[in-house]
Amino acid sequence: MKHFATVTRVPGDPILGLLDAYRADPNPAKLDLGVGVYKDALGLTPIPRAVKQAEQRLIDSEQTKSYIGGHGDPLFGEQLLQLVLGEGSPALVDKRAGCTQTPGGTGALRLVGDFLAKCLPGRSLWLSDPTWPIHETLFAAARLKVEHYPYVDAANRLDVPAMLETLSRIPRGDMVLLHACCHNPTGYDLSRDDWRQVLDIVRERELLPLFDFAYQGFGDGLDEDAWAVRLFVDALPEVLITSSCSKNFGLYRERTGALIVVAADGESLIDVRSQFASVARNLWSTPPSHGAAVVAMILANPELRQLWQQEVAAKRERIAGLRQGLVDALAPHGLAERFAHIAQQRGMFSYTGLTAEQVLRLRREDSVYLVESGRANIAGLDAERLGQLAAAIARVTA
Ligand code: PLP
Repeated sequence: MKHFATVTRVPGDPILGLLDAYRADPNPAKLDLGVGVYKDALGLTPIPRAVKQAEQRLIDSEQTKSYIGGHGDPLFGEQLLQLVLGEGSPALVDKRAGCTQTPGGTGALRLVGDFLAKCLPGRSLWLSDPTWPIHETLFAAARLKVEHYPYVDAANRLDVPAMLETLSRIPRGDMVLLHACCHNPTGYDLSRDDWRQVLDIVRERELLPLFDFAYQGFGDGLDEDAWAVRLFVDALPEVLITSSCSKNFGLYRERTGALIVVAADGESLIDVRSQFASVARNLWSTPPSHGAAVVAMILANPELRQLWQQEVAAKRERIAGLRQGLVDALAPHGLAERFAHIAQQRGMFSYTGLTAEQVLRLRREDSVYLVESGRANIAGLDAERLGQLAAAIARVTA
C-alpha cells in the first residue's frame, strides 16, 4: 500500500516562485522587489553589528542549553514589553501586561489564533483587505472564523471611510486585527486622527483589538511606530499584540517574537497567560532561546542598544530616501503626482498602483521583479538605478 498516494500537491508560495525566476534571470541589471527582507545598498541582508556583538558575548557567557520556560526568557519579556508599550506605560505600572516569547511574529500569530479559537469561540476575527497573505492561511489553520474590512479602494488607494464604515458594523465582541505600522502589503498607514476614530469604534462595539507589530522602527521611529498600540493600551482594558524581532533586529532565521497581552487586571493576566503556555505546549513546547537572548542583551545594554538604534535608524532612512528618490526620478516623466503616494507610505512595502499587466511587462522587458498586486519591496531598490527604473515605469504606464 502506498500511504501517500492520496496526498495532493499544493502550489508553492508565489513570492518564492518569483525569487526562483529572478535567480534564473541572466540579466545583470535585474532587480528583486519581491521578497520581504530588508536589503542594504549592496542588495545584502547583513547581520546588524549590535547583534554580532551580543552573539559574541553570549557565546562566552552562556552556561546551559537546558530548556527555557514556556513564556521564554524573563529578561527578554521585560525588555520587549518596555520597547512596545513604552517605559512607564500604565499597563506595566499596574502589572496588567505580560509577554510570551514565540518563534517569530508568525509563532505569536499562531499562538494567539489557537488561543482565540479555544477560549473565545464563536467570534470572528476581522482582517484588512488586503492583508499579509499568511494571516489568511494561518488563522484558517487555527480554525478561526475570519471576516474582512476594506482598506484600499478599487484604485488601490487607502480608503479610511470604507474601513470605518465596515468596522462600525462589526458584531459586538468580535476581534479585529490591525497593522500597528508599515501595513503589509500596501505601505499605507492610518493618520493619528484615523486611529482615534478606529479606537472610538473599537470601544463602542466592544471589539478586542489584536495588533500585528512586525516593523517597529521601520516607519517613523521606534516610539513613533508604537503610537497607535500605546493609544489603545492606554485607553482600553484588554489588548493583544504580536511583535516580531525579525526585521528590526535582522534576526529572521532565529525566529524571535512575542505575544503580548494587556488584561483588565493582574488576576485575568495570570489566567490568560496560563492559556498561552498551555496552547504553546502543544505547538512548540518551549521557544527557541538564541534570538531572544540576543534581543534581551541588546536592549538591556546601553552601548549595544545605542548601536542597534542607530542601525534601525539607518534602515528606516534608507527606505525613506528610496521612496522619495523614486518619486523624484519619476518627475521628469510627468509621473511625480501619480506616484506621490510611494513617498507617503511607510515601511518596506508599497502598493505602487502598477497593474498586473504592467508588472508582467516590467518583469519581461526590464527584469524588474515585483508581485502581481503591484506590491514592491522598496528596500530592494538600488539608489544608483532609480532613473532606469523610472524610465521603465514610464514606458509600461504610457
Ligand atoms: N506580520 C507581518 C505583517 C509580516 O509581514 C511578517 C513577516 O513578513 C510577520 C508578521 C512575521 O514575521 P516573522 O515570523 O518572520 O517574525
